[in-house]
Amino acid sequence: MLNVGFDVGGTNIKVGVVNEKNQIVAQRRQPFPTGRSYQKVAAIMAEMTESMAEELSVPAASFGSVGIAIPGDLDAAGETIINAHNLHFHNIPMKREMEKHFPRTPVFLGNDANVAALAELHAGVFQGCRTAVLLTLGTGVGGGLILNGRMFNGGMEHGVELGHMILVHGGDRCSCGKKGCVEAYCAGTWLVRQGRKAIVEYPLSLIYKAARGSMERVSAKLVIDCAKKGDAVAQDIFDDYVEHLSSAITSIASLLDPEVIALGGGVSLAGDFLFRPLRRQVEEKSFFHFAHKVMPAKLGNEAGIIGAANLIRNQD
Ligand SMILES: [Zn+2]
Repeated sequence: MLNVGFDVGGTNIKVGVVNEKNQIVAQRRQPFPTGRSYQKVAAIMAEMTESMAEELSVPAASFGSVGIAIPGDLDAAGETIINAHNLHFHNIPMKREMEKHFPRTPVFLGNDANVAALAELHAGVFQGCRTAVLLTLGTGVGGGLILNGRMFNGGMEHGVELGHMILVHGGDRCSCGKKGCVEAYCAGTWLVRQGRKAIVEYPLSLIYKAARGSMERVSAKLVIDCAKKGDAVAQDIFDDYVEHLSSAITSIASLLDPEVIALGGGVSLAGDFLFRPLRRQVEEKSFFHFAHKVMPAKLGNEAGIIGAANLIRNQD
């Protein structure tokens, strides 16, 4: 059985046809048509699907399902996109719209972080796990949870918001408007913010030199690279980052006793430079011996497509 998985983002619509071994056998990518109606977006997605069916010489109606990963909140039934800010989609009946193009094919929507966790369950580091947690450390902090071998979307299906657990009482303002969330301290954006401060406060630091004094050039990767090169200011920032992230991970581990906590997103690409001190701190802070279970996610850029194609396997 071949399933279709869409990874819809504010920059691109990516889609793949995924076989039973979770291999992507055909794929397409198009810029997201910002400002166009959702009907137009669905029509483009249908065309992309048809074009892959043609390449594979099968009718599009033979695909087992169409799954769609969305960067936003869905209603409890998984039919309507409540808010996807990057797409400028609010209260969009996306499932119904896609079903107009594929009347005989089951269509599923999923939040992108949940979908990435589902991908890890079927094809990545969560294979065989009953309980596992994925944290994606990018512009924000996304989280996906596997409970009892299935993607868990909250007791009332409102979603899990690991990025908005409170980490620091009265702390920094988060993108959600509240203070002190995990996302406010563990997103790559935090490294950018501290790097920019360092440019002003420490003009002798390598961060200043690497960014040639420009705030715009400071990225999470630039700060991490400066720390890797031994810059003391960048190392201090990175140590603080690891301090916060290890606290968040330890709390999640204490709550769930999961088999694996995997980290994805841009910051996780720092590799051992991140994982070594992180595991050390998690070990110090944890009630359980847990540190060895903190590991990098496996699927990277393909997580959205593979997870979306597996949404059909998460149904009752
Ligand atoms: Zn928040």
